[in-house]
Amino acid sequence: MLDNLRQIFSFLNNAHNAQTIVSVIEEAFPLNAVYIYDSTTETLRDFSQSWKFIKSKELNEIFEKLSTEKYITFKNRSYYALFNNDKIIGMLEFKEKLHEKLLEFLELSIFCISLKIQNIILTERMQKNIDFHDSMKNIAKIIETQYETNYIIPIIGEMIDKFVSDHLVYIFINNKLVWPSSCKDNKIFELIKCLNNKSEYVLTPDKKIGLFPLISENKLLGCIVTKSTESILSEKEIEYLEQLSTQAATTINRANVYAEILKHATLDALTGFYNRRQLEERIKQEVSSAKRHKRDLCAIMTDIDFFKSVNDTYGHSAGDLVLKTVARIIKSQLRDYDTAGRYGGEEFVILLPFTKLDEAELVAERLRKAVEEKKIDISKIVPNKNDISVTISLGISQYNNTEDNTFIQNADKALYKAKESGRNKVCKM
Ligand code: GH3
Ligand code: MG
Ligand code: MG
Repeated sequence: MLDNLRQIFSFLNNAHNAQTIVSVIEEAFPLNAVYIYDSTTETLRDFSQSWKFIKSKELNEIFEKLSTEKYITFKNRSYYALFNNDKIIGMLEFKEKLHEKLLEFLELSIFCISLKIQNIILTERMQKNIDFHDSMKNIAKIIETQYETNYIIPIIGEMIDKFVSDHLVYIFINNKLVWPSSCKDNKIFELIKCLNNKSEYVLTPDKKIGLFPLISENKLLGCIVTKSTESILSEKEIEYLEQLSTQAATTINRANVYAEILKHATLDALTGFYNRRQLEERIKQEVSSAKRHKRDLCAIMTDIDFFKSVNDTYGHSAGDLVLKTVARIIKSQLRDYDTAGRYGGEEFVILLPFTKLDEAELVAERLRKAVEEKKIDISKIVPNKNDISVTISLGISQYNNTEDNTFIQNADKALYKAKESGRNKVCKM
């Protein structure tokens, strides 16, 4: 018996998930299932299949009884309580009545089993928190960098799906289903029509369907819907979903606004450079002209060094001012027929027609130096702080008559090299 005990303790010690723990107990006992009491939903759930909630009245009654009796046999099965100090946290269900020896063995090992199970539950809960924060960070990242709703919505959908995995998730925009591709429940279509721009989340009386409106700047954009397959939403999940839908609404709203602006604009509002779309056009034109007339063409790609820390230290408005200033410096150094465009957040592409690689290198070096030497006065935005300076890294490449976009990609690679080798540098490819 002592050996068996030692063995079960050592196995439990090495078990790090619910399935392994269950199989360790199964080795020693005629185990049928492990049930855990979930206090947020006030139901029992299957420990190794945590999404499975148990709705048996019989089992609930047995569970109630166990808080005073510890061991119960019922209809050819037997049940043993799992405890945390004096509080019952769940129960083991055995396929048969346990004989004397096994009961004694169980008596000795139950403390260790209970403890291990509690640890796993805690870890699961923590993991869920970590996942949530990762999701939030992801959404924040998308807000910063993406403006295509076609791209954003599936990402949000998948993130929520991962989160409430025992529910179906739907995203509606303007009463139209946008993710996933179909929803067969007509009730949902009816329900979402009742939402308005003041709505808070709604649960149906049976708590099976949850509606989380997407509201940004007082506009109802759409709605995230969850539909249960088995369990109901826990309080924690509701809280998560509320926060997620607020974030998602901001993202989608921005994307809509941005897309609207993009439709009309050719210039980037902050820097006055060509915006990304227009830049792509200009690249095509310059390439075709260089090809046709066999002219030289070079590209420079620039990126501000440690720009994130400017934002973090002095705020986004100061960051914007720095960005604007760098753009102005670049512009002042270029010839009339050079083209500059905003490629990404703080990345610019400069096209230099009639220019060979070594000449482009001189231009890039001149830009690098001019930015490095510039003192940027941010005192209007950050009182008590006068001049700050930043540096840029630059990558250059020459168009070589082959694939149209490879020379831009090469400039990007060269830029990466400049970053890798210490920043505030010019590298070529
Ligand atoms: P490095 O390039 O040297 O590797 O570091 P970094 O900190 O510049 O790198 P990263 O590309 O991670 O950060 C770019 C930051 O630029 C992140 C984003 O917040 C910021 N950014 C992008 N667009 C804008 C903008 O329009 N205004 C402001 N203020 N910040 C922007
Ligand atoms: Mg960057
Ligand atoms: Mg940068």
